[in-house]
Amino acid sequence: MKKEHYSVAVDGPSGAGKSTLARAAAKELGITYVDTGAIYRVIGLAASRRGIGTEDAARIIPILPELDIAIRYGGDGAQHMFLNGEDVSDVIRLPEISMLASAVSALGEVRAFLLEMQRSLARKQSVIMDGRDIGTVVLPDADVKIFLTADAEVRARRRCLELEQRGTPRPFEEVCEELKQRDWNDAHRDVAPLRQAEDAVLVDTSGLDFEQSRALLIRTIRERVDA
Ligand code: C5P
Repeated sequence: MKKEHYSVAVDGPSGAGKSTLARAAAKELGITYVDTGAIYRVIGLAASRRGIGTEDAARIIPILPELDIAIRYGGDGAQHMFLNGEDVSDVIRLPEISMLASAVSALGEVRAFLLEMQRSLARKQSVIMDGRDIGTVVLPDADVKIFLTADAEVRARRRCLELEQRGTPRPFEEVCEELKQRDWNDAHRDVAPLRQAEDAVLVDTSGLDFEQSRALLIRTIRERVDA
């Protein structure tokens, strides 16, 4: 029987192509894509604007109640992030915000602050949600859980290409180092560390191009829910 309402959790390390692939799958399946990394990035941005750095990230905790974080979807299904009414969708992509997002996301208070927001999105509609702890913490009962990964060098190469196409090229070594550092932070924090859920399907896209990865992801989902 066709399931009317379902959820797909996609977790994995930085630069594995989770957002691009999850967005493409959402489009094909006609469901909502939720990029949870963007929500952590908004908190990273709020920290940066208050002069908080990665080493004193905990200073953001008392400020959390002042942050009004909203997610809105454009007509094209694109996810826009708002911080106290301002559209911050572009500025949260800056590399320094990536590192701050990783730092604030290690704080239990920040994770608790965002948990209900993420769960309520999945209650309202069918979603494909990507992040680091979706299958393990946010949606432990997700209908499909996928752990999407690729070798670090492959991920760094893809990220470099993406940056080049955006007109903001950066050296491979630097990108690769930063990516490995974020992976390490995410996998070694005490609260909700990045790990594959026991019931998640491992999808490794190291040897696959975008189209092959997209097809594999959609097939993996369709095999588990009659979507
Ligand atoms: O996915 P993205 O790279 O945009 O995420 C930014 C940072 O937010 C990650 O490095 C990770 O530390 C954190 N994050 C998280 N849990 C999630 C999503 C992102 O800790 N569910």
